[in-house]
Amino acid sequence: MKIRNPYRNLPQWYRGNTHTHSNLSDGEWPPEQVVAYYRDRGYAFLAVTDHDVFTDLSQFTTPAFLALSSDEVTVCGRDHIVGLDLKGLVEPFTDHQQTIDAINDQGGLAILAHPNWSAFGLERCLGLHRYAAVEILNVVCSYLEYNGFALQYWDQLLRSGVRVWGVAADDAHRIPYQGGKAWVVVNADQLTPEDVLANLKAGNFYSSTGPHFQKFEVVGDTIKVWCSPAIEIRFMTGDPNPASRVRGDALMQAEYTPRPGDPYVRIEVVDAQMGSAWSQPFFIDPDWRP
Ligand SMILES: [Zn+2]
Repeated sequence: MKIRNPYRNLPQWYRGNTHTHSNLSDGEWPPEQVVAYYRDRGYAFLAVTDHDVFTDLSQFTTPAFLALSSDEVTVCGRDHIVGLDLKGLVEPFTDHQQTIDAINDQGGLAILAHPNWSAFGLERCLGLHRYAAVEILNVVCSYLEYNGFALQYWDQLLRSGVRVWGVAADDAHRIPYQGGKAWVVVNADQLTPEDVLANLKAGNFYSSTGPHFQKFEVVGDTIKVWCSPAIEIRFMTGDPNPASRVRGDALMQAEYTPRPGDPYVRIEVVDAQMGSAWSQPFFIDPDWRP
């Protein structure tokens, strides 16, 4: 058995938001005000992802803040695909795979946005490839139609053998109300577009609405995790019920040894403020031999 740990445990963790709007499409604030809001709240990076608009944010990048020029591409109707770190506009296609390919052709990273709001069918997504992640929490959809969480959808994809990462994002249109609610934290050597994108693509990041993960290790056949104080740590293996659950008042460490047949293990942490953090899946190759 081989447990694939996506985490590199580098010293630097960078918090960022991968999905935000400005008044270049249907957001309320101009890009510079959106950037300032996130930068002032300690975010290390931000993507402004206006609908079918390429926003060149390069002027806002500094050594301490990375602004990713990006685009939320409409495929058809409510099907949207976020393209991170693009060189220019992605023409709206009516085909999902063409859109994902166009994002990749620019060296960008494709994220399937708000799968419940879009009603991306599982069958459709199983036929797609080259997308790096799916939004497991979209804050605006939680307020608009109460369907922002897509953990079950993610587990369905994972159980079907799709190796895809999970992203939490604000999708903020009205920044002061919707901004700063859900984010990703990327573990990377440096705050450069190359490093941040490479580690997002490799799954070396987690998603959160509050708690922090600090370290992930695989020791023998056991997955060990360290986090900020939590009231619950859960190990999820594809079933709605956790494979293992620890409860306490200020838990900061837990571990789990996968059972035969577990296709993957992902970790959820809940803190006393009811914030959550979600690790990426540790995929398990049962037949692997050293
Ligand atoms: Zn959006």
